[in-house]
Amino acid sequence: MAKTTERVTGMGIRAYLALGLTVMALLFTASFFYFMSMTREMSVSGTRTYGAFMALTEARSKADHSLFERLRETESALNAARQNTSTPRQTTDAALTALAASIAELSAPQAATEDILLQLRRTATLAHEFENRLLMGFLLLGTGLAALFGLLRLHLARPLQGIMAFLNQLGTGAASQPPKRSFIVELGNIAASLENLGTYLSLATVRSQKLASEHDHFQKMSLVDGLTGVGNRRAFDEKLRSLWLQAQQGQMPLALIMLDVDTFKRYNDNLGHQAGDECLRRVAAAMSRAARSTDVCARYGGEEFALLLPGADAATAQAVATRVHAEVAREQLPHPASPVSTFVTVSLGVSSMTPLADQDVESNVLVRQTDAALYEAKAAGRNRTRVYGQS
Ligand code: GH3
Ligand code: MG
Ligand code: MG
Repeated sequence: MAKTTERVTGMGIRAYLALGLTVMALLFTASFFYFMSMTREMSVSGTRTYGAFMALTEARSKADHSLFERLRETESALNAARQNTSTPRQTTDAALTALAASIAELSAPQAATEDILLQLRRTATLAHEFENRLLMGFLLLGTGLAALFGLLRLHLARPLQGIMAFLNQLGTGAASQPPKRSFIVELGNIAASLENLGTYLSLATVRSQKLASEHDHFQKMSLVDGLTGVGNRRAFDEKLRSLWLQAQQGQMPLALIMLDVDTFKRYNDNLGHQAGDECLRRVAAAMSRAARSTDVCARYGGEEFALLLPGADAATAQAVATRVHAEVAREQLPHPASPVSTFVTVSLGVSSMTPLADQDVESNVLVRQTDAALYEAKAAGRNRTRVYGQS
């Protein structure tokens, strides 16, 4: 009996995928904003460096210009002082003071240079940090993707593979392993239903195999004579029909031997029906021993047996009939009341023919001819064989 499918607890496939996508989207958004803010900082720092550099260039060119002017002035002032010895000492001092001021001005851009270096160092540090973070981000992203694919493999691919393998096994009818339950509700339910289906199918298979073997057994039994174990009248009729058709198509002879136990009524009357039954069994066994492997032995009715011999001409059938007499004699079944012999004897009628193309098996020609030959054997004194057409 198939169980009803139990409810599987877990997550729906849509929820599972939605959760995965949400986590991935959040990760992407967070890292996007993080990297964007770092890039902005770097760009601001770069712009500042540029501004400081521009200011420095301007200051330097201005300083250069004024320094040049002052140096010229100082030079001419010093020249005038050298030529004119009357030049007062103050004038030379003033020129020297101006020169010192110019030199002091020269050191002004030094501060700007330090500012630029500071900014440059900051930019370099930021860039290095950015590089490290980017690497880290890629590592995290890679790990996240690997984890996601691992989860998909574990919760989706594996159960699906299990289900597929199970279905394949079901198709071939091999003993199958039920699929693994899954964390995903839909897959879990499918697995549970398939497990039930497998149980149901294996039960149904066992049942149908049993039915088939029973059917086989009954079919065989319906063609076997219960007393003697050889074919019954139905088997004889079926075999006659098929062998007749075969002989007709191949234009080959088909022979029939009919056997009748001599004075069997007296045997029964004398020794009882049970002994009579045993006698019939022994005669059937003797007839089977005498038959060729291709021949078909059947109980035609009462104490009469028939042997169908495909491909046998009259001479071959007669040779088999001789063996039947010998095998029955070997049984040495005492028959005190027999007027023919002290042991059970049989009379045989033999006939062989190649069916004509339009000759129907229902015409019973072969059976009628064999019957006539058997009648002749009886009439001639029993315990003998008569071949049809050879009297
Ligand atoms: P004949 O030599 O002319 O053949 O004489 P017969 O006595 O053999 O022939 P008859 O047809 O007079 O008798 C056949 C007997 O076979 C009658 C019947 O009681 C017996 N018989 C038929 N079937 C069975 C059976 O299954 N078991 C037993 N014990 N006897 C059977
Ligand atoms: Mg008879
Ligand atoms: Mg008889």
